[in-house]
Amino acid sequence: MADEWERYLRQQIELGGAEVVLSSAGKRGSGEAGKPVTAGHSERSEESPGVTSVRDLDHSLPGAIPRSARDDARVLEPTPASRPSWTKGAPAIPGPGLAVESPEHHLLGDDLASLSTLEEVAERIRTTHCCGLCSHRINAVPGEGNPNARLFLVGEGPGATEDAQGRPFVGQAGTLLNGILEAIEVPRDSVYITNIIKCRPPQNRKPLPDEIAACIPYLHRQLEIIRPKVILALGSTAAEAMLGVRKSLGELRGKVHTYNGIPLIVTYHPAALLRNPNWKKPTWDDVRIARQLLDR
Ligand code: URA
Repeated sequence: MADEWERYLRQQIELGGAEVVLSSAGKRGSGEAGKPVTAGHSERSEESPGVTSVRDLDHSLPGAIPRSARDDARVLEPTPASRPSWTKGAPAIPGPGLAVESPEHHLLGDDLASLSTLEEVAERIRTTHCCGLCSHRINAVPGEGNPNARLFLVGEGPGATEDAQGRPFVGQAGTLLNGILEAIEVPRDSVYITNIIKCRPPQNRKPLPDEIAACIPYLHRQLEIIRPKVILALGSTAAEAMLGVRKSLGELRGKVHTYNGIPLIVTYHPAALLRNPNWKKPTWDDVRIARQLLDR
């Protein structure tokens, strides 16, 4: 399926200038698969302030400054001539949508606010039974990723592979998600990925409202700790739970919502794309909106 996504993207975007890193199947993001990212924007660009671009150095020329390990770690600034491929035909950033605030701590009904790290939250999730799903799990799936993530992804809930491994998006949908992240030049290991609920529902059914209510405080705390720059909600369950509304995905896409002032973009769930490839193009547009917001 990652191959299919890759083929699709190659049709959609004209390769040239900056290379799109699209090695995907079975690999956990370009942190392992394709690092360093080629000329273009990168998740790490704001982590290296003051770094000089080395784009124009031709290391084959005599007298060129030798490439050092430090150069390799640098993020290269794009010029119009070498704009990242994902920018070609990218939609403009749309107007505002809903603005929501997270519930106040006392309404969450627990002492989560005292947990100050993601690992503490994860340990609480692994050791707590907060709804009927917990007793059927092989593993809880708290979430994983970079504690300093600028992009925060939220799915619905773990599937069978995630339940078996205790990690989010490691099955087929995860492979597709990895391809999407690579196509917008965001290494998987630079983001944080989690779900609305942290335990697998039987037969992967949609989580029930009381299951969501029992589990969502963990998500609020994870967001509070990470404070990402952009949130990407994958699918209607994630979008509705985060925004506190009952609306179709069609109604929620194409707007910049905010969660505690953080831009929140809604798109299709990768598993939905596996079922309906017609949703890949709108998803590609949505993720490029989220990608632009990261650079803002
Ligand atoms: N689908 C989800 O919503 N989350 C996962 O972690 C895997 C599949």
